[in-house]
Amino acid sequence: MQPVGRFAPSPTGPLHFGSLLAALASYLDIRARKGRWLVRIEDLDPPREQPGASTHILKTLEAFGLCWDGDVVYQSQRHSLYQEALGQLRQLNLTYPCNCSRKQLRTRGAQGYDGYCLQHPPASLDNCAFRVTHPEGTQFFADRIQGRREYQWQGHQGDFVIFRRDDLFAYQLAVVVDDAEQGITDILRGSDLIDETPHQLLLQSHLGYAQPSYAHIPVITNAEGQKLSKQNLAPAISGHERQHLLLKALRLLGQNPPTELEAATTEELLQWAIVHWHIARVPTVLSLPQGEE
Ligand SMILES: [Zn+2]
Repeated sequence: MQPVGRFAPSPTGPLHFGSLLAALASYLDIRARKGRWLVRIEDLDPPREQPGASTHILKTLEAFGLCWDGDVVYQSQRHSLYQEALGQLRQLNLTYPCNCSRKQLRTRGAQGYDGYCLQHPPASLDNCAFRVTHPEGTQFFADRIQGRREYQWQGHQGDFVIFRRDDLFAYQLAVVVDDAEQGITDILRGSDLIDETPHQLLLQSHLGYAQPSYAHIPVITNAEGQKLSKQNLAPAISGHERQHLLLKALRLLGQNPPTELEAATTEELLQWAIVHWHIARVPTVLSLPQGEE
């Protein structure tokens, strides 16, 4: 089976270095196995989006030579698919309405969710979210970079939102529906999303979808373990600067590009990186030494 991977940014701002790292790693991991690499814009949350950000992100990917297959998919145009999946889950009784506000959850001291709306079903569906029941017990998956990940679920703490009170489809539902619909076999993304994976695995099983493989690259932190402030990448940066950033990204991903490549073009760099890609060399943690932020 030909592997299919994807890069799925939210258009909340221009592409930054951490996202470039994720896009590059996913691209190399797929191209090294002669697979298809897709781009999906996750524009589900209009208030958080920045006008022009999608175009900016796509131009930046192109400038770095990260060319995708097929058409770019926009989540904002796929609401009917998400609606259908929500209907399926409701029919199967795997989701229930919840009108708890954040404040109510805080006041009750809920860790995750406390199951309140299962005991006290909302009188009407107006202003309701939908939660999926996350069964109690142990859940685990094997991450290709981070290794075995294990989760313990108690009570209703794991019950998660797939449709929001503000009438928007939640990330969890859209991402699972899209990955299945696009035939994604290999998900490689930043480790800030690793703890979303168990919910996504559960949804895939509820909806009868195939389960892709998962790999999470580390999020870059400084020497104190803080997440780096976002360094934006303008699409217009000079060719030289692009090569420098690609080399830096390859080094951070543990791929050890030889020094001869300092003079290479973007295309030559990517060619080298595809041929020499080893996911086993990607570190599980990435912290930059002081002064190199
Ligand atoms: Zn509730």
